[in-house]
Amino acid sequence: MAIKIDQIKGNLTVVMYHYVREIKESLYPGIKGLEFEKFKTQLDHLQSKYQIIQAEDVISSCLNGSPIPENSCLLTFDDGYKDHIKFVLPELKSRKIQGTFFPPAKAILDRELLDVNAIHFILERCTDYKLLLKELFDLCISRDIKEELLSEWKVAYGSTGKWDSEPEPALIKRLLQFLLPERIRADITSILFEKYVGQKQRDFADDLYLTTDDLKIMLADGMYIGSHGYKHFWLDKCSVGDQKEEIINSLKFLTQIGASTKDWMMCYPHGAYNNDTVKLLDEYNCGIAFKDSGGETILDIDRRYDLARYDTNDFPQ
Ligand SMILES: [Zn+2]
Repeated sequence: MAIKIDQIKGNLTVVMYHYVREIKESLYPGIKGLEFEKFKTQLDHLQSKYQIIQAEDVISSCLNGSPIPENSCLLTFDDGYKDHIKFVLPELKSRKIQGTFFPPAKAILDRELLDVNAIHFILERCTDYKLLLKELFDLCISRDIKEELLSEWKVAYGSTGKWDSEPEPALIKRLLQFLLPERIRADITSILFEKYVGQKQRDFADDLYLTTDDLKIMLADGMYIGSHGYKHFWLDKCSVGDQKEEIINSLKFLTQIGASTKDWMMCYPHGAYNNDTVKLLDEYNCGIAFKDSGGETILDIDRRYDLARYDTNDFPQ
Protein backbone atom coordinates (compact mmCIF):
# COMPACT_ATOMS: atom_id res chain seq x y z
CA MET A 1 0.00 0.00 0.00
CA ALA A 2 1.36 3.39 -0.96
CA ILE A 3 1.92 5.69 1.95
CA LYS A 4 0.77 9.23 1.35
CA ILE A 5 3.07 11.81 2.79
CA ASP A 6 1.83 15.37 2.97
CA GLN A 7 4.00 17.56 0.87
CA ILE A 8 6.03 19.79 3.13
CA LYS A 9 5.14 23.37 2.32
CA GLY A 10 8.12 25.61 1.72
CA ASN A 11 8.25 28.65 3.96
CA LEU A 12 9.84 31.74 2.51
CA THR A 13 10.60 35.26 3.68
CA VAL A 14 10.15 37.79 0.88
CA VAL A 15 11.37 41.34 1.51
CA MET A 16 10.02 44.28 -0.50
CA TYR A 17 12.04 47.40 -1.27
CA HIS A 18 11.23 50.62 -3.15
CA TYR A 19 13.64 53.59 -2.99
CA VAL A 20 17.15 52.56 -1.87
CA ARG A 21 19.49 55.56 -2.07
CA GLU A 22 21.71 58.02 -0.24
CA ILE A 23 18.70 59.97 0.98
CA LYS A 24 20.25 62.43 3.43
CA GLU A 25 22.68 63.82 0.84
CA SER A 26 20.11 63.87 -1.96
CA LEU A 27 18.00 66.74 -3.29
CA TYR A 28 14.99 65.11 -1.60
CA PRO A 29 16.09 64.27 1.95
CA GLY A 30 12.48 63.84 3.11
CA ILE A 31 11.60 61.05 0.70
CA LYS A 32 10.38 57.90 2.44
CA GLY A 33 12.87 55.28 1.35
CA LEU A 34 15.74 53.19 2.66
CA GLU A 35 19.10 54.86 3.24
CA PHE A 36 21.79 52.93 1.33
CA GLU A 37 23.89 52.42 4.50
CA LYS A 38 20.85 50.91 6.21
CA PHE A 39 20.26 48.66 3.20
CA LYS A 40 23.76 47.24 3.66
CA THR A 41 23.13 46.75 7.38
CA GLN A 42 19.89 44.98 6.57
CA LEU A 43 21.60 42.69 4.05
CA ASP A 44 24.18 41.79 6.74
CA HIS A 45 21.32 40.88 9.04
CA LEU A 46 19.36 38.92 6.43
CA GLN A 47 22.45 37.01 5.27
CA SER A 48 23.24 36.04 8.87
CA LYS A 49 19.73 34.67 9.48
CA TYR A 50 18.58 33.50 6.04
CA GLN A 51 19.77 31.97 2.84
CA ILE A 52 19.07 34.40 -0.01
CA ILE A 53 17.67 32.30 -2.85
CA GLN A 54 16.89 32.95 -6.50
CA ALA A 55 13.57 33.77 -8.14
CA GLU A 56 13.84 30.67 -10.34
CA ASP A 57 14.08 28.45 -7.22
CA VAL A 58 11.02 30.10 -5.71
CA ILE A 59 8.99 29.54 -8.89
CA SER A 60 9.96 25.88 -9.19
CA SER A 61 9.39 25.25 -5.50
CA CYS A 62 5.91 26.73 -5.70
CA LEU A 63 4.94 25.00 -8.95
CA ASN A 64 6.75 21.66 -8.63
CA GLY A 65 7.31 21.34 -4.90
CA SER A 66 11.09 21.24 -5.26
CA PRO A 67 12.64 21.88 -1.84
CA ILE A 68 14.15 25.19 -0.79
CA PRO A 69 16.55 25.61 2.14
CA GLU A 70 15.18 26.30 5.59
CA ASN A 71 15.05 30.05 6.28
CA SER A 72 15.03 31.02 2.63
CA CYS A 73 14.71 34.66 1.69
CA LEU A 74 13.93 36.43 -1.60
CA LEU A 75 14.78 40.11 -2.13
CA THR A 76 12.34 42.09 -4.29
CA PHE A 77 12.57 45.66 -5.62
CA ASP A 78 9.51 47.45 -6.98
CA ASP A 79 8.98 50.33 -9.40
CA GLY A 80 12.13 50.34 -11.54
CA TYR A 81 14.08 53.17 -9.92
CA LYS A 82 17.60 54.20 -11.02
CA ASP A 83 18.48 53.46 -7.37
CA HIS A 84 18.30 49.80 -8.31
CA ILE A 85 21.21 49.92 -10.75
CA LYS A 86 23.15 52.65 -8.95
CA PHE A 87 23.08 51.28 -5.39
CA VAL A 88 21.35 47.90 -5.24
CA LEU A 89 22.94 46.06 -8.17
CA PRO A 90 26.61 46.62 -7.21
CA GLU A 91 25.87 45.66 -3.61
CA LEU A 92 24.05 42.45 -4.56
CA LYS A 93 26.79 41.55 -7.05
CA SER A 94 29.54 42.04 -4.50
CA ARG A 95 27.66 39.71 -2.15
CA LYS A 96 26.95 37.25 -4.98
CA ILE A 97 23.20 37.25 -4.34
CA GLN A 98 20.25 37.81 -6.65
CA GLY A 99 17.54 40.45 -6.57
CA THR A 100 14.11 40.27 -8.20
CA PHE A 101 12.99 43.50 -9.86
CA PHE A 102 9.51 44.62 -10.85
CA PRO A 103 9.68 47.67 -13.15
CA PRO A 104 6.48 49.42 -14.36
CA ALA A 105 6.75 48.95 -18.13
CA LYS A 106 5.21 52.13 -19.54
CA ALA A 107 7.08 54.44 -17.16
CA ILE A 108 10.33 52.82 -18.31
CA LEU A 109 9.51 52.86 -22.02
CA ASP A 110 7.85 56.28 -22.29
CA ARG A 111 9.78 58.07 -19.49
CA GLU A 112 6.43 58.92 -17.94
CA LEU A 113 6.17 59.72 -14.22
CA LEU A 114 3.79 57.44 -12.29
CA ASP A 115 1.21 59.38 -10.30
CA VAL A 116 2.32 57.56 -7.16
CA ASN A 117 5.88 58.88 -7.61
CA ALA A 118 4.75 62.40 -8.53
CA ILE A 119 2.78 62.47 -5.27
CA HIS A 120 5.75 61.22 -3.20
CA PHE A 121 7.88 64.13 -4.42
CA ILE A 122 5.13 66.78 -4.15
CA LEU A 123 4.66 65.75 -0.52
CA GLU A 124 8.42 65.68 0.04
CA ARG A 125 8.77 69.31 -1.12
CA CYS A 126 5.65 70.48 0.74
CA THR A 127 6.11 72.12 4.14
CA ASP A 128 2.43 72.83 4.83
CA TYR A 129 0.09 69.91 4.11
CA LYS A 130 -3.01 71.90 5.09
CA LEU A 131 -2.18 74.56 2.51
CA LEU A 132 -1.49 71.91 -0.15
CA LEU A 133 -4.84 70.26 0.55
CA LYS A 134 -6.58 73.63 0.23
CA GLU A 135 -4.85 74.25 -3.12
CA LEU A 136 -5.87 70.80 -4.27
CA PHE A 137 -9.50 71.38 -3.24
CA ASP A 138 -9.52 74.74 -5.08
CA LEU A 139 -8.18 73.04 -8.22
CA CYS A 140 -10.91 70.40 -7.90
CA ILE A 141 -13.70 72.95 -7.42
CA SER A 142 -12.53 74.94 -10.45
CA ARG A 143 -12.88 71.68 -12.39
CA ASP A 144 -16.50 71.20 -11.30
CA ILE A 145 -15.92 68.72 -8.48
CA LYS A 146 -18.67 69.41 -5.93
CA GLU A 147 -17.64 70.71 -2.52
CA GLU A 148 -20.03 68.25 -0.84
CA LEU A 149 -18.23 65.35 -2.50
CA LEU A 150 -14.85 66.67 -1.34
CA SER A 151 -16.22 66.93 2.21
CA GLU A 152 -17.47 63.34 2.03
CA TRP A 153 -14.07 62.12 0.85
CA LYS A 154 -12.40 64.10 3.62
CA VAL A 155 -14.41 62.17 6.19
CA ALA A 156 -14.08 58.78 4.49
CA TYR A 157 -10.42 58.90 3.45
CA GLY A 158 -8.70 61.55 5.55
CA SER A 159 -7.53 59.23 8.30
CA THR A 160 -4.00 58.25 9.24
CA GLY A 161 -2.69 54.84 8.24
CA LYS A 162 0.42 52.66 8.38
CA TRP A 163 2.32 55.02 6.07
CA ASP A 164 0.89 58.40 7.07
CA SER A 165 1.00 59.87 10.55
CA GLU A 166 -1.00 62.94 9.47
CA PRO A 167 -4.44 62.96 7.83
CA GLU A 168 -3.74 65.39 4.95
CA PRO A 169 -1.11 63.34 3.06
CA ALA A 170 -3.37 60.27 3.23
CA LEU A 171 -6.26 62.19 1.66
CA ILE A 172 -4.04 63.93 -0.93
CA LYS A 173 -2.64 60.55 -2.04
CA ARG A 174 -6.08 58.99 -2.40
CA LEU A 175 -7.54 61.97 -4.25
CA LEU A 176 -4.69 61.99 -6.75
CA GLN A 177 -4.43 58.21 -7.08
CA PHE A 178 -8.01 57.11 -7.56
CA LEU A 179 -10.78 59.26 -6.09
CA LEU A 180 -10.75 61.99 -8.74
CA PRO A 181 -11.60 61.17 -12.38
CA GLU A 182 -8.44 60.13 -14.27
CA ARG A 183 -8.23 63.18 -16.57
CA ILE A 184 -8.61 65.70 -13.74
CA ARG A 185 -6.19 63.75 -11.58
CA ALA A 186 -3.41 63.84 -14.17
CA ASP A 187 -3.97 67.54 -14.86
CA ILE A 188 -3.90 68.57 -11.18
CA THR A 189 -0.92 66.34 -10.37
CA SER A 190 1.02 67.94 -13.19
CA ILE A 191 0.22 71.48 -11.94
CA LEU A 192 1.17 70.66 -8.34
CA PHE A 193 4.30 68.80 -9.43
CA GLU A 194 5.63 71.73 -11.44
CA LYS A 195 4.82 74.13 -8.62
CA TYR A 196 6.35 72.12 -5.78
CA VAL A 197 9.16 70.19 -7.48
CA GLY A 198 9.92 72.84 -10.10
CA GLN A 199 10.47 70.42 -12.98
CA LYS A 200 8.54 68.92 -15.86
CA GLN A 201 7.38 65.43 -14.95
CA ARG A 202 9.02 63.97 -18.05
CA ASP A 203 12.50 65.29 -17.21
CA PHE A 204 12.09 64.09 -13.67
CA ALA A 205 10.98 60.64 -14.84
CA ASP A 206 14.06 60.38 -17.02
CA ASP A 207 16.26 60.69 -13.94
CA LEU A 208 14.05 58.56 -11.71
CA TYR A 209 13.57 55.36 -13.70
CA LEU A 210 15.81 52.67 -15.12
CA THR A 211 16.07 52.43 -18.89
CA THR A 212 15.61 49.27 -20.96
CA ASP A 213 19.41 49.20 -21.37
CA ASP A 214 19.81 49.31 -17.57
CA LEU A 215 17.43 46.36 -17.28
CA LYS A 216 19.40 44.41 -19.89
CA ILE A 217 22.58 45.00 -17.87
CA MET A 218 20.83 43.79 -14.72
CA LEU A 219 19.63 40.65 -16.50
CA ALA A 220 23.14 39.98 -17.81
CA ASP A 221 24.33 40.29 -14.20
CA GLY A 222 21.99 37.47 -13.17
CA MET A 223 19.15 39.52 -11.72
CA TYR A 224 15.53 38.41 -12.24
CA ILE A 225 12.93 40.73 -13.77
CA GLY A 226 9.19 40.14 -13.46
CA SER A 227 5.98 41.92 -14.43
CA HIS A 228 4.68 44.91 -12.50
CA GLY A 229 1.91 45.65 -14.99
CA TYR A 230 2.12 48.09 -17.88
CA LYS A 231 0.60 51.32 -16.53
CA HIS A 232 0.96 50.38 -12.85
CA PHE A 233 -2.82 50.39 -12.42
CA TRP A 234 -4.77 49.16 -9.41
CA LEU A 235 -5.90 45.97 -11.18
CA ASP A 236 -8.88 45.49 -8.88
CA LYS A 237 -10.25 48.81 -10.19
CA CYS A 238 -9.81 47.83 -13.88
CA SER A 239 -12.23 46.09 -16.24
CA VAL A 240 -11.31 42.57 -17.38
CA GLY A 241 -10.39 44.02 -20.79
CA ASP A 242 -8.06 46.61 -19.28
CA GLN A 243 -6.47 44.00 -17.02
CA LYS A 244 -5.86 41.77 -20.02
CA GLU A 245 -4.18 44.64 -21.85
CA GLU A 246 -2.01 45.34 -18.80
CA ILE A 247 -0.82 41.73 -18.75
CA ILE A 248 -0.26 41.37 -22.49
CA ASN A 249 1.68 44.65 -22.71
CA SER A 250 3.80 43.88 -19.68
CA LEU A 251 4.71 40.48 -21.17
CA LYS A 252 5.68 42.17 -24.45
CA PHE A 253 7.92 44.44 -22.42
CA LEU A 254 9.60 41.50 -20.66
CA THR A 255 10.23 39.87 -24.04
CA GLN A 256 11.59 43.14 -25.42
CA ILE A 257 14.23 43.44 -22.69
CA GLY A 258 15.12 39.74 -22.93
CA ALA A 259 13.58 38.61 -19.61
CA SER A 260 12.07 35.14 -19.30
CA THR A 261 8.31 34.77 -19.70
CA LYS A 262 8.25 31.06 -18.88
CA ASP A 263 6.33 30.60 -15.61
CA TRP A 264 6.76 34.36 -15.24
CA MET A 265 6.41 36.27 -12.01
CA MET A 266 3.81 38.95 -11.35
CA CYS A 267 3.92 41.64 -8.69
CA TYR A 268 0.54 43.37 -8.37
CA PRO A 269 0.92 47.18 -8.51
CA HIS A 270 -0.24 48.53 -5.12
CA GLY A 271 -0.78 44.88 -4.13
CA ALA A 272 -4.23 45.11 -5.71
CA TYR A 273 -6.01 42.33 -7.66
CA ASN A 274 -9.31 40.46 -7.90
CA ASN A 275 -10.74 37.16 -9.20
CA ASP A 276 -10.52 38.37 -12.82
CA THR A 277 -6.80 39.02 -12.37
CA VAL A 278 -6.24 35.49 -11.09
CA LYS A 279 -8.13 33.96 -14.06
CA LEU A 280 -6.08 36.03 -16.49
CA LEU A 281 -2.79 35.11 -14.83
CA ASP A 282 -3.70 31.46 -15.19
CA GLU A 283 -4.72 31.96 -18.82
CA TYR A 284 -1.38 33.66 -19.60
CA ASN A 285 0.69 30.97 -17.82
CA CYS A 286 1.91 33.15 -14.98
CA GLY A 287 3.98 31.12 -12.51
CA ILE A 288 3.50 32.99 -9.25
CA ALA A 289 2.29 36.42 -8.09
CA PHE A 290 3.14 38.62 -5.11
CA LYS A 291 1.06 41.12 -3.21
CA ASP A 292 2.62 43.85 -1.05
CA SER A 293 1.77 42.67 2.46
CA GLY A 294 0.99 39.60 4.52
CA GLY A 295 4.31 38.62 6.12
CA GLU A 296 5.58 35.06 5.80
CA THR A 297 5.03 33.30 2.46
CA ILE A 298 3.96 29.69 2.15
CA LEU A 299 4.93 28.27 -1.23
CA ASP A 300 1.89 26.23 -2.09
CA ILE A 301 0.55 25.80 -5.62
CA ASP A 302 -2.98 26.67 -4.48
CA ARG A 303 -1.76 30.02 -3.18
CA ARG A 304 0.59 30.78 -6.04
CA TYR A 305 -1.22 33.98 -7.06
CA ASP A 306 -1.50 35.27 -3.51
CA LEU A 307 2.06 35.21 -2.18
CA ALA A 308 2.81 37.51 0.75
CA ARG A 309 5.73 39.86 1.31
CA TYR A 310 7.30 41.74 4.19
CA ASP A 311 8.34 45.37 3.94
CA THR A 312 11.98 46.35 4.54
CA ASN A 313 10.78 48.25 7.63
CA ASP A 314 9.78 44.92 9.22
CA PHE A 315 13.48 44.01 9.64
CA PRO A 316 16.48 45.63 11.37
CA GLN A 317 18.12 48.35 9.25
ZN1 LIG B 1 4.65 49.56 -7.68
